[in-house]
Amino acid sequence: MDAAFFRTWMTEAGTVIEAQRDHLTQLDAAIGDADHGINLARGFAAITAALATNATPTPGSVLVLAGSTLISKVGGASGPLYGMALRQAGKSLGDTDEAGLPDLSASLEAALAGVQKLGAAREGEKTMVDALAPAVAALQKAIAEGAGAATALAAAAAAAAEGAQATISMQALKGRASYLGPRSVGHEDPGAASTALIMGALRDVARREAP
Ligand code: ADP
Ligand code: MG
Repeated sequence: MDAAFFRTWMTEAGTVIEAQRDHLTQLDAAIGDADHGINLARGFAAITAALATNATPTPGSVLVLAGSTLISKVGGASGPLYGMALRQAGKSLGDTDEAGLPDLSASLEAALAGVQKLGAAREGEKTMVDALAPAVAALQKAIAEGAGAATALAAAAAAAAEGAQATISMQALKGRASYLGPRSVGHEDPGAASTALIMGALRDVARREAP
């Protein structure tokens, strides 16, 4: 998976987030301040623009630029958290021209560690961690079982989607939604939902370009 693969992942994630912008914002309206879709759509549009105007010769440079762009363009909790995730993922890839599946897995592990370092959320607290952590675990398991990129990333995306659904029954213990206490139960976490979309974009790009 080369730099072009990662650029395609980021721009396709932007397309999906733009298409789901109102849905993500509605999820945030229920338990937050109704800006998650707006925040992320703006951030990913800025990523697409930054990738079009800056040289990103390596996979790592794509993700570092994407993360830095989110940090500078998106306020709220999710900008710095996704920005940290992408920057850490990019740093973990180093300056290799071609990332293998184990490299990608390690980079997503680094993304998760970055989110948890910054946001201190554990699994079960109704955040993006509840989609990202199962995705990382599913990817590691699929690789250990010998799966190729398309199959392994399909498993990761499915685990992220399941993880996002599982946030419905959770009470929020981190972020703005935690102010609602038990009233946060019964709604999908917007950040977990957007993580599932981003992992879905990765699955789709891999199915086409790295089967
Ligand atoms: P804000 O909450 O500032 O309005 P957004 O609406 O863009 O920011 O993002 C909200 C999402 O951020 C939540 O749905 C949750 O997934 C994620 N989030 C909030 N706080 C944390 C945290 N401490 N750790 C991980 N994710 C978090
Ligand atoms: Mg919000």
